[in-house]
Amino acid sequence: MGGSKVAATDVVAGSTIVLIVLLGPPGAGKGTQAARLSAKYGIPQISTGDMLRAAVAATTPLGERVKGIMEAGELVPDDVMLEVVEDRLSQPDCASGAILDGYPRTAGQAETLDPLVWRIGQGRSSLVLVLDVPEEEVIRRISGRLEEAGEAGKRDDDEDHVVLERLRVYRELTEPLVEFYRDKGVMTEIVGVGTVDEIFDRMDATVREHLQG
Ligand code: ADP
Repeated sequence: MGGSKVAATDVVAGSTIVLIVLLGPPGAGKGTQAARLSAKYGIPQISTGDMLRAAVAATTPLGERVKGIMEAGELVPDDVMLEVVEDRLSQPDCASGAILDGYPRTAGQAETLDPLVWRIGQGRSSLVLVLDVPEEEVIRRISGRLEEAGEAGKRDDDEDHVVLERLRVYRELTEPLVEFYRDKGVMTEIVGVGTVDEIFDRMDATVREHLQG
C-alpha cells in the first residue's frame, strides 16, 4: 500500500500480467472507470460495446451483422464475440494485459475466456471487479445520459424500452457471472455509488492489492 501512483512498469515487470474484467449492469460506470484504470496502469481498455458500435458506424460485415441485435438490446452471439475479443487481445498492445469492459457477458463467454488467454500464449492473472449499483440508480443514470445527450447524441440503444431490455438481459445472462467468479475466488465487489473519484479509489485499491499479492 502507500504510494498513490503505480507506474505502468510495475505492472509489466516480472511475470505479473493482468487482465482486469469489469462486470456490472448497463449504466454502472464501467466505461468511465475502465478508461481511468487504463490511463493509470498503461494497459488498453477493451470495450466490446465501443468496438461493435464502431463496426456498425463503419458498416463492416460485423457491423451489419450486429446492428439489429444491438438496437434491440439483445446480445451478439458468443461465437461472434469470441472472435472479436480474441483478435483484439492478440494485438501487441495487449501483451502486458488489458481491461475488459463489457466482456464476458454470458456463461459461454466466461468459460472460453481462460482458454482464449492461454491460446494467445501468456499466463495472466485475472481480477474481476463487480460494480454494484442498485437498479433504480442505474435507470436514473441512463435517463440522465439521455437528457444530456439530446436527440443528436443519443445512442440507438438508449431508448427506454431498450434500456429495460438491456437490464433484463443483464440480470438473466450476465449477473450469474458474479457467482461464477466468486467461486473461482477472483472476484471483488465494489460499491458503485458515490463520486467517480471515490469509486475509482475503491477499484484502484483492489487492483494494487492484487498486484502486490
Ligand atoms: P452497456 O451500456 O449496456 O454497458 P455496451 O456499450 O457495453 O452496453 O454494449 C452495447 C451493446 O453491444 C449490448 O447491448 C450488446 O448488444 C452488444 N455487446 C457488447 N458487448 C457484448 C458481449 N460481450 N456479448 C454480446 N453482446 C455484446
